Amino acid sequence: MVEHINPIAETASETSAAVDASVANSSTKVNLLGMSEAKLIAFFETLGEPKFRAVQVLKWIHQLGADNFEDMTNVSKSLRAKLNLCAEIRAPEVIKQLDSADGTRKFLIRVSGGNVVETVYIPEGDRGTLCVSSQVGCSLDCSFCATGKQGFNRDLTAAEIIGQVWIAAKSFGQLAVNGPRAVTNVVMMGMGEPLLNFDNVVDSMNLMMHDNAYGISKRRVTLSTSGVVPQLDRLSQYTDACLAISLHAPNDELRNELVPINRKYPIAMLLDSAQRYIADMPDNHRKITIEYTLIDQVNDRPHHAHELAELLRDVPVKINLIPFNPFNLSNYKRVSNNALRKFQDILIEAGYIATVRTTRGDDIDAACGQLAGTVNDITKRSERHRARFEETQPIKIIG
Ligand code: SF4
Repeated sequence: MVEHINPIAETASETSAAVDASVANSSTKVNLLGMSEAKLIAFFETLGEPKFRAVQVLKWIHQLGADNFEDMTNVSKSLRAKLNLCAEIRAPEVIKQLDSADGTRKFLIRVSGGNVVETVYIPEGDRGTLCVSSQVGCSLDCSFCATGKQGFNRDLTAAEIIGQVWIAAKSFGQLAVNGPRAVTNVVMMGMGEPLLNFDNVVDSMNLMMHDNAYGISKRRVTLSTSGVVPQLDRLSQYTDACLAISLHAPNDELRNELVPINRKYPIAMLLDSAQRYIADMPDNHRKITIEYTLIDQVNDRPHHAHELAELLRDVPVKINLIPFNPFNLSNYKRVSNNALRKFQDILIEAGYIATVRTTRGDDIDAACGQLAGTVNDITKRSERHRARFEETQPIKIIG
């Protein structure tokens, strides 16, 4: 594992306060980083500028990685001066970059309020997948997820979400003339439930797919939800990205335990909504990705696999099996290799495409379900969870 620390951020103990102060001082300026093309055009209209100026600036930011207006050589001097007075391009700050032996790269990104979110880049052959966070922590409390145990602080802004793509692409030299295409896929599967931060997530995903921004194919941008059905029902009006469902259980009784939002929006309601979403897509061969985290002795038995096969019988899906990745403060264990293989075989025999997600970046705690960041938890759930966990341990944890 290679660790890169931003020396400026790490040497000053008051960095967090300084960052917050700078955010406050610059709050009178409009941050253009998270603006959709439509919002940017509207902003330039308020300056009395034509639409094409917005498109020029959009390209400078997202295709060439500009973080100041002086670099924008095809924008007139007078407009650059105007923009300097009222606008800025401000990405969140990378405080640490961790490189795994397997090529996975994790960014620890400071956002205001002393919070840190995590973004993970996973290279695989000619693909580079970026796992992007949408919230600081998560207000849902899935029992197998490190983020859920951290509690919740706030939604990320659109600039903080698309900023993660901007940061990763820039770190691989992508945002330059003829730069390599490093980020080929994006999954909204990092910290947070994307559909609970609907507007900012939609704006950011649309920038990822926009030809004047990152230009990633709609088949390579995926939103993953644990099942916020009312928001999923609205989604097709705003985007045509791919959809993944965090299912993790073949029946409501078990899913109520693993994914508590299921008590409000049970499986049948969720699958109906997901099917309506793909039915609304212009291309009609879409499949829903079903994510199923396999936890030893919890949801990994052959009868669970048979029940899952039956449940999804009439739903166009591909199934992604994810071996549970252990984290501190969790009693769950990783599925055994035998159980994993058997579970997969049952699904394949039943006619499904069932793949196993390879664990990547576990030497830097970047594997699926392990993202935690630093969350100033306003829900106090992290304290309650830690106390509950300690009660179950034979030896007391100190520190
Ligand atoms: S799995 Fe997703 S929705 Fe559930 S707690 Fe973790 S981040 Fe939130």
